[in-house]
Amino acid sequence: MSDYAADLLGPTEIRQLASSLGITPTKKLGQNFLHDPNTIRRIVNAAELRPEDTVVEVGPGLGSLTLGLLGAGHSVQAVEIDPRLASQLPHTVAERAPGLSERLEVVYKDALQVDAQDVDAPTALVANLPYNVAVPVLLHFLETFPSIRRVLVMVQLEVAERLAAQPGSKIYGVPSVKASFYGTVYKAGTIGKNVFWPAPNIESGLVRIDRFEQEPWPITAESRAAVWPLVDGAFAQRRKTLRAALAGHYGSPAAAEEALRAAGIEPGLRGEKLSVADFVRLAGVRGVEHA
Ligand code: SAM
Repeated sequence: MSDYAADLLGPTEIRQLASSLGITPTKKLGQNFLHDPNTIRRIVNAAELRPEDTVVEVGPGLGSLTLGLLGAGHSVQAVEIDPRLASQLPHTVAERAPGLSERLEVVYKDALQVDAQDVDAPTALVANLPYNVAVPVLLHFLETFPSIRRVLVMVQLEVAERLAAQPGSKIYGVPSVKASFYGTVYKAGTIGKNVFWPAPNIESGLVRIDRFEQEPWPITAESRAAVWPLVDGAFAQRRKTLRAALAGHYGSPAAAEEALRAAGIEPGLRGEKLSVADFVRLAGVRGVEHA
């Protein structure tokens, strides 16, 4: 860490940068910029990256976290949808982290449209995600880049809690199951409002995902295509039993009951009781015996 140097952005620098670019942060793009170097260091530390990790960052904004990641010695591919922010970022890095510019690549694109042509096999996703698209972006990156082995993202606190929820909890739902399809999901801390400009109305939370080192089930387009409709169906009406909630998927309540029983699942349960391994087994995806 001490071998690298980046001058992190504080409140004065964030305001100066925004005003020199004529930027008024927009809610639509979830533009709440970090202006607290201690929080940046906390996020980078919580990611516990290896020196060789190459990071994809979604929504670098004015560069607060980007500088923290570069300063810690990582290469960063930064995906930004706002053209003013995307074009400024290389200049900010050249000024505040001299010598580290060649480790930065900026991709000017909607993160939801990013594919393997745009970003080269990242091993980690570290981001203060735009809150309105946080879960879709997270799932899109886990799906598109099997090379990502570590995720550390900041999201709304409520979303962090939902992502890390366990079966049986009231807040366990589609994001919890889909995220845990890829690995182990943890809450990695809470972040207050005042470390952002402008300050949001709500608190934020850090979520860490460690991708399975050995896949307990095949993580492929085919297995997702089999599992996702069951997860979506099971939670579409949370109060329904699985027999009723999955009747549409299987053609009738009786057919749903038969499939559930064949997978060893009690048809009178609600979706919130099923682990991801249960959904995988119900989908008939092989390879869960040791999950
Ligand atoms: N990383 C910066 C920080 O921590 O200060 C900014 C984080 S801010 C919460 C979210 C950033 O995501 C903004 O820069 C915004 O322009 C960008 N953004 C919003 N929607 C996006 C999308 N669909 N694809 C890529 N970037 C997006």
